[in-house]
Amino acid sequence: MANIVDLHTHSTASDGIYSPTELLRLAAEAGLKVQALTDHDSTDGLDEAAQAAKVHDIDFIPGIEINTDVKGGEVHVLGYFIEYQRAEFQSILQVLRDARVRRGQRMVERLNEQGLHIKWERVREIAHGSVGRPHVAEALMEAGYVKSIEEAFDKYIGAGRPGYVPRYKLAPQDAVRLIASANGLPVMAHPITLPGLEELRKWLPGLRDSGLVGLEVYYGHYTPEQVQELLTIANEYQLIPTGGSDYHGPGIHPTPLGGRYVPYESVERLKAVAAQHHGKTPPTFELPTPVQEK
Ligand code: AMP
Ligand code: ZN
Ligand code: FE
Ligand code: FE
Repeated sequence: MANIVDLHTHSTASDGIYSPTELLRLAAEAGLKVQALTDHDSTDGLDEAAQAAKVHDIDFIPGIEINTDVKGGEVHVLGYFIEYQRAEFQSILQVLRDARVRRGQRMVERLNEQGLHIKWERVREIAHGSVGRPHVAEALMEAGYVKSIEEAFDKYIGAGRPGYVPRYKLAPQDAVRLIASANGLPVMAHPITLPGLEELRKWLPGLRDSGLVGLEVYYGHYTPEQVQELLTIANEYQLIPTGGSDYHGPGIHPTPLGGRYVPYESVERLKAVAAQHHGKTPPTFELPTPVQEK
């Protein structure tokens, strides 16, 4: 039987290939009944996605994904059921997206210095919304310097490669608090990244205090053993296990849309917590200053 829940997807509002409308059509074709759109630092695709979801009778969850910096790696924080129309929330997302633009420009400069002649204007055109490295990869591919997005990351724009430039990122607890400031439900995304599960256990109590409610357990390509390990951790810290494909379109991540089983119970549990928050005055959040590139 086809999976019916996917809580982690991307559209052209950030670095996904398909527009929100196309993405929801593909979701319906894949048999999904519940879908969240979780673009990087942007909620600009959510209204369109919600409209398209109505057409296809899909239960749509407004979401976001925010990348954060930790020593030795990156932590991504998903947010669900966010009240994204809130002005303060939007102004902070704008600061994060502006930082992405400056970083993209610097990456193009570095690539130019390496003799790879791509133009910032072209990268900006490829990116319809929030600019990301996949858009730079696309420009490199178009110009014939690489044959795939993967090759662009491997040779030029992956962390530590010659065209890589880091960008301004929040700390994980600030991303959690930012999402909570829009009455959203913060969930730690794909936790099996650097620096490992022991480190994760150290962070979780503090992040829970900041408002973390879930852990992405059923993620993309994770093996049954990894899922089991994460499920144990989620239970231990009383976090809701969530999951999804992290679908971006062909060529970016291996899992197809709806390609990962996520229990419907995850949705029910998220909805129960969301119902407790909505309509309440959320905690306030201010960006740590100064906002600057690392
Ligand atoms: P950025 O947020 O601009 O640093 O770009 C990171 C995004 O690039 C991730 O969210 C993924 O969507 C994508 N990405 C990261 N590594 C790879 C890779 N090796 N191949 C393809 N896409 C990648
Ligand atoms: Zn992405
Ligand atoms: Fe992510
Ligand atoms: Fe993602």
